[in-house]
Amino acid sequence: MTLSVPRHFRLLLDENEIARRVSELGREISADYEGKELHIICVLKGGVYFLADLVRELTLPVTFDFLSVSSYRGTESSGVVRFTKDLDEDIESRHVLVIEDIIDTGLTLHYIERNLKTRKVASLALASFLDRPHRRKVDLELDYVGFVIPDHYVVGYGLDFEHKYRQFKDIYAIN
Ligand code: 5GP
Repeated sequence: MTLSVPRHFRLLLDENEIARRVSELGREISADYEGKELHIICVLKGGVYFLADLVRELTLPVTFDFLSVSSYRGTESSGVVRFTKDLDEDIESRHVLVIEDIIDTGLTLHYIERNLKTRKVASLALASFLDRPHRRKVDLELDYVGFVIPDHYVVGYGLDFEHKYRQFKDIYAIN
């Protein structure tokens, strides 16, 4: 028995495509950071599946930590973002890679980037499993992107619809 997929969900990326791409990213990141230790910061909650799969594809010593930010949805124009859970560990002098589930306006990751840059990191890179560039409001340079997707709300592989369906192994678009 598996959780049934609601009728208005349309398959966008299946689990095999996702696994292949995550594995490619793992190889790329492992090569880029060869000889270094990488500290990954996962943005909760949507990034957790990507984090879990990606770190198992890395051939580097890695550590990871989590942060959580408040949603600005509903006050979108203000771009207000607030940390609701800060990091457990100090990141000074570390090579940091921030992992997000999806970048839409870019406001969330832009805020996180500015904040983490003040903490004297050795380097800071940005990765997102999905990139939907259509509504971007700030310039963001993403170092690693899984897939660039069309302008639809998406669900699965950690991404929710009304707090549910994060556990789907595939990604669905909602029409
Ligand atoms: P941004 O600040 O880039 O506009 O939005 C980033 C955050 O909004 C993501 O980390 C995610 O939590 C949420 N988000 C944006 N688009 C989607 C989507 O299509 N599906 C889901 N489930 N969350 C989204």
